[in-house]
Amino acid sequence: MPKVTIREERCKACGLCIHYCPKGVLGPSEKFNAKGYHPTEVKHPEKCIGCTICAQVCPDQVFEVYR
Ligand code: SF4
Ligand code: SF4
Repeated sequence: MPKVTIREERCKACGLCIHYCPKGVLGPSEKFNAKGYHPTEVKHPEKCIGCTICAQVCPDQVFEVYR
């Protein structure tokens, strides 16, 4: 089962990962991180297929994808 982890303190909430994830796994958190952004969180972990697109589009190395 693929798994994606998020270092949310690095996230700038640019939204690229949410836009490009083909499975709708990701979405904005309701809480704030230390930078004052709503970081991305994993909303639907069971839908992740481990494609690594999120890790490739993120400019801030927020993701680690385990396959
Ligand atoms: S690995 Fe692929 S399916 Fe999983 S969260 Fe990232 S973009 Fe979405
Ligand atoms: S692409 Fe990276 S910085 Fe942008 S919202 Fe997603 S996790 Fe945050």
